[in-house]
Amino acid sequence: MDPVIVQRADHTLSRQNISPEALKVLYGLKEADYVAYIAGGGVRDLLLGRTPKDFDVVTDATPNDLRRVFRNCRLIGRRFRLAHVFFGRDKIIEVATFRANVPPDSADSPDPADQTEQSDPSDQAPQNHHHVRRDDGMIVRDNLFGTPEEDALRRDFTINALFYNIRDYSVIDYVGGLQDLQKRVIRFIGDPGVRCVEDPVRMIRAVRFAAMLGFDFEPATAAAIREHHGSLALANRSRLYEEVQKLFFCKAAERAYELLREFGLYEMLFPELGSWLGPNTGTPECLRISQALKQVDQWRQTGREVSPALLFALMFGGMHEARAGELSEQGQHKGLALHSVTMEHFGGLTERVQVPKTVRYRTAEILASQPRLTADGGRRARPLATRDFFPEAVAYLEFMVCLTGEHREALAQAQAIDWAPRQSRYGEEGEPRRRPRRRRRGPPVSGPS
Ligand code: ATP
Ligand code: MG
Repeated sequence: MDPVIVQRADHTLSRQNISPEALKVLYGLKEADYVAYIAGGGVRDLLLGRTPKDFDVVTDATPNDLRRVFRNCRLIGRRFRLAHVFFGRDKIIEVATFRANVPPDSADSPDPADQTEQSDPSDQAPQNHHHVRRDDGMIVRDNLFGTPEEDALRRDFTINALFYNIRDYSVIDYVGGLQDLQKRVIRFIGDPGVRCVEDPVRMIRAVRFAAMLGFDFEPATAAAIREHHGSLALANRSRLYEEVQKLFFCKAAERAYELLREFGLYEMLFPELGSWLGPNTGTPECLRISQALKQVDQWRQTGREVSPALLFALMFGGMHEARAGELSEQGQHKGLALHSVTMEHFGGLTERVQVPKTVRYRTAEILASQPRLTADGGRRARPLATRDFFPEAVAYLEFMVCLTGEHREALAQAQAIDWAPRQSRYGEEGEPRRRPRRRRRGPPVSGPS
């Protein structure tokens, strides 16, 4: 199908708003005679007058071609072979070769994992298909090259499938994305039901874009999410964790939460919390979560850092406090009860969303430190200032003071303490740190010969 091509004079996307690094990559490819487009969120955001998070480049150059064009380039990824082009220490432009979606009859295709480095698909001509679709319709691996049109069609939503062509500065639209940007709707490309089932994470993405951009759902897209929300249980747990973070840090988390609840997705992500909340919205428990997420949005909008652990503490705090309250009535120490309730909840939750251990421990510490932080009007808080989670614990208290009006004095005390962190008790993986073994000095003493 011929795309709609909007010439430079007829659109608002200006090169001035594209990062110099992305432009270098685009021009580098163009000079080497390859096709080079910006794709995805970069084009969408620039056309909406927003500042893009990053610029992704797509091209007809294969990953190995890219290695030849850019010296500062590294190939990454097994599921999708991508190139990272480095500028300085921390600027990276991601470059992908045009890729096609998985055709429905592809269950018996070869698995790229079986291939060696030498025969990897990086250098094979476009159109080579390497993908696996399971019986339940989910794609578990795909790494295949395609045409620009196929690359547009494999993307999730019409507004995410626009290309900006560096050759003539035009915008290329294969899917009606420009119209949907104007109508302000999120619309799946292709059959919405199929697109939900083959990659259930897309349902969470749909909610993110709707909340973040203030867009509506096109009716068939909304109907498919409503129908297929249950397939979220089959999604990859670490990808789900990545998307959950992006979702709640998108500065529109309160709205995202409402949409997740409407579609039944919230209880798929957080089953235990979902059943604790029950089906009704507007209960004090639900309102507390809305308020917590509103707080996260406000902090994010003013540039304040919110860690994943603080996010989970805020979102789960109501349920954990209620449960720990019951245990402390039976005589358990409140802080310990909060810790164990939190770890127990995460134990089940990680079957759905792969929250890293470090984050789980830290969430538990933020919550477990609250009784100490508020005891005696905050006068017992000082020892906590040596702990690495102290600022997050104080931020949590700040939210609680806004919510309840209690513990103002304790908050003032805590905010006046200088944070002086000692080394974390937990290693990288969140396990208690083991004492390093002392190395013996000098050669080992030899026994009698
Ligand atoms: P953001 O501004 O948050 O980065 P984005 O649209 O750039 O939003 P990314 O997650 O960076 O989103 O993905 C880049 C592009 O890749 C998307 O715009 C979309 O075209 C495509 N994409 C990402 N995830 C999927 C998916 N699960 N299924 C199909 N296409 C996807
Ligand atoms: Mg992006």
